[in-house]
Amino acid sequence: MTQMQFDLHSHSHCSDGELSPTALMAHAEACGITHLALTDHDTLNGIAEAQSAVANHSLQLIHGVELSCTWNGQLLHVLGLGIDIADAPLQRGIDSNTQLRSMRAQAMVADFAKHSIDLAEAVDSLLKGAVPTRPHFAQALVNLGYAKDKRQAFKRYLVRGKPGFVPIKWPDLDEIAEWITGAGGVAVLAHPLRYGFTRSKLVRLIGDMRTAGVRGIEVSTATTDPQQAAMLAELANQHQLLASVGSDFHALDQPWARLGSARPLPEHTVPVWTELSLS
Ligand code: AMP
Ligand code: MN
Ligand code: MN
Ligand code: MN
Repeated sequence: MTQMQFDLHSHSHCSDGELSPTALMAHAEACGITHLALTDHDTLNGIAEAQSAVANHSLQLIHGVELSCTWNGQLLHVLGLGIDIADAPLQRGIDSNTQLRSMRAQAMVADFAKHSIDLAEAVDSLLKGAVPTRPHFAQALVNLGYAKDKRQAFKRYLVRGKPGFVPIKWPDLDEIAEWITGAGGVAVLAHPLRYGFTRSKLVRLIGDMRTAGVRGIEVSTATTDPQQAAMLAELANQHQLLASVGSDFHALDQPWARLGSARPLPEHTVPVWTELSLS
């Protein structure tokens, strides 16, 4: 058997990724990945196409999603891995998150209009059926010359205190954890170091996560260095959490998050895939 290569966090053009689900699967295979989770933001729309694309291929698709939620008034991203995408309560929950995104997008267009920036058409032409995300707005701002790149768009616009920032009242952590668990999935905290929490706050979050039924954290991502991964592995072990590995791949032109670029998990962790059904 060939060595298994896991990447359990990736995006397609059904949310804010660049590639179609089909192209993403081909890219994953070319990168030597054996098990890929498609985890689009608040939508399952890409899973069926991705599943067809891997039929008769050795690449295994893990059905996933990246859900936005709130904990203590703060935005968190939680992955659902190995979910049953036909589960009705999960579908209803995800639909309500998608609706929140659509309502936010309309409010964002209105807010930009107040600043004399008309983004309606530019955003529409980028969406092509995707759930609306801030990166779509960032790209529209670049296309219309309001920012030189997306990074600059996220500095001048789209964030608290800047034009185009519209907060969303996401569902609570407990609620989305229940959707995932109810659909047979494993809930995993995405990119634990990206929230700017102190260690004690992270430990508090982990306590609440465990109560809610979140069973894992990402220990290795494309942007964690070995020292950070060792720290996260220790946290995971101390709190009996499963360890996940994922690049958070979005696009080919983002060298900081290539598919498969997250380092292998540190030894002595319990990998999340011990709880997933693998072929
Ligand atoms: P949303 O969930 O629609 O609010 O958008 C969040 C997404 O925006 C994240 O998943 C990232 O892909 C992207 N993002 C957030 N901050 C930045 C940034 N500073 N530069 C580029 N992309 C960003
Ligand atoms: Mn994203
Ligand atoms: Mn995320
Ligand atoms: Mn992501």
